[in-house]
Amino acid sequence: MATRKLYWSSPQSGLYSLSAAMRKIKPRYWLLLAVPWLATLALHMDFKGWYSELLSVAWLVGMAAFFIQFALGGRIRKGSLFGNIDWSMSRHKQVGKLLGYLFFLHPFLILAPRFLMSWDDGVTSLVSVLTAPSMLTGLIAWGLMLVFVLLAVFKRSLPLRYETWRLLHLLAFAGVAVLATLHVTSVGRHGQFQPLFNRFWWALLAGVSALMIYNHLIKPLRLKRKPFTLKSIERVSRSDWQLTLEKPPQTDFDFAPGQFVWINTSGSAFDMNDHPFSIASCRKDLPQLSFIVRELGDYTGKLGDLTPGQQVYVDGPYGSMSLADSARADGIVLVAGGAGIGPMLSLLRGLAARQESRPVRLVYGNASIDQMVLQEEIRALETQMADFKQLLVCSEPQSDPAIHHGLIDREVLEKALGVGDNANRVAYVCGPPAMVQAAKRHARALGVPGAQIHYEQLAF
Ligand SMILES: Cc1cc2nc3c(=O)[nH]c(=O)nc-3n(C[C@H](O)[C@H](O)[C@H](O)COP(=O)(O)OP(=O)(O)OC[C@H]3O[C@@H](n4cnc5c(N)ncnc54)[C@H](O)[C@@H]3O)c2cc1C
Repeated sequence: MATRKLYWSSPQSGLYSLSAAMRKIKPRYWLLLAVPWLATLALHMDFKGWYSELLSVAWLVGMAAFFIQFALGGRIRKGSLFGNIDWSMSRHKQVGKLLGYLFFLHPFLILAPRFLMSWDDGVTSLVSVLTAPSMLTGLIAWGLMLVFVLLAVFKRSLPLRYETWRLLHLLAFAGVAVLATLHVTSVGRHGQFQPLFNRFWWALLAGVSALMIYNHLIKPLRLKRKPFTLKSIERVSRSDWQLTLEKPPQTDFDFAPGQFVWINTSGSAFDMNDHPFSIASCRKDLPQLSFIVRELGDYTGKLGDLTPGQQVYVDGPYGSMSLADSARADGIVLVAGGAGIGPMLSLLRGLAARQESRPVRLVYGNASIDQMVLQEEIRALETQMADFKQLLVCSEPQSDPAIHHGLIDREVLEKALGVGDNANRVAYVCGPPAMVQAAKRHARALGVPGAQIHYEQLAF
């Protein structure tokens, strides 16, 4: 099993900054969040004071955000709002935390003024909240939401398999969606004033249910009808495997270099044990697709047990990295950390296939040299392509002086980008999240505009 060594510089850590998270949210997303509140304006209800009105806006926006969470995490491939899965997944996580805080505060913010006016009134209200049958759905939803937001935040430190966590996450939030809808439609003041308004929440719940039925029933049925075949599985480094699949004939499957798919080798298209892997081959290799997979945990550690000839279900492609993003660049830098070499190979192979003449540099980092994959092919490309060079980076000391010892830092990126104006260079980065954040920071510091740094993090 590969040891998890760091080979990137100064990993970013700490809590998300609330303002940074909010700045990254698209205006169309804000507009969607505002729809229920805008709808309440048509109800012409009495003004109940600023505090009450502000809380009301917060709950309406919060409920809308909660329902939209299902679309953000729901592997939607098309559409301009949810079709970019990297954007969707990172917003899903950020918004999830904010919703955790909001829903946690919900009962306290409602009861606080009563306690402030009179302690006895506060206690009476608290007792009636805890005992009123109409509050039961809200109380259960509140408890479930709290537990599962915490489980999501701390999922990496829990003694739970990722697949178990994912199933629980899905079931718990489906439950919260039903209970929260019952709560908001039974005690929400807008629905009590105008029962028609409740149809809005029921419609959102129906949309979420339809998405879940599509993802967990209709999509698996479709994948079951067109299974891919495992052609080969071979070791390509001390810690990596190359997995090659073949798509079934007459199946419409295409991708752009840099994209990824979810692979399910369990034997059942309905099994939730599927994993995202980036395509390493290029389009001209179709019908074959290859992947570089690093041994990391319980699934990737047992890849050697797969049998050539077995059926594999492939959901995708997803992801927004694409060579089209560098069409006008005057130079391209590919930065790969560990298993991040997969999509970089796909991009590199795509560039080689179209006889790229602009400068192309591959910065490839690993803990040690015996983790570098497909070196024969990459070296051959150095001679075949007009201006392509690879820079190897190892965090462990190596005897070869050509290998940069240390991390993928500013020095190695400066070497790859070359001295001078980098305003028209494009960088593609893929690897573990901390490495990606560090590489983005260094590339920006070296003058590559943020909009020209395209990246994929190997974890959601
Ligand atoms: C967009 C994307 C592209 C990726 N491309 C590659 C690639 O080309 N090569 C490669 O080696 N790795 C890639 N990964 C990472 C790969 O998916 C995980 O290493 C693998 O799923 C780990 O599974 P495990 O059971 O062996 O390890 P675990 O120890 O169970 O998981 C390790 C970590 O991997 C992630 N993970 C595990 N299972 C899943 C899952 N079913 N879905 C999503 N994330 C999961 C979680 O963050 C988890 O904490 C990619 C990840 C993403 C998000």
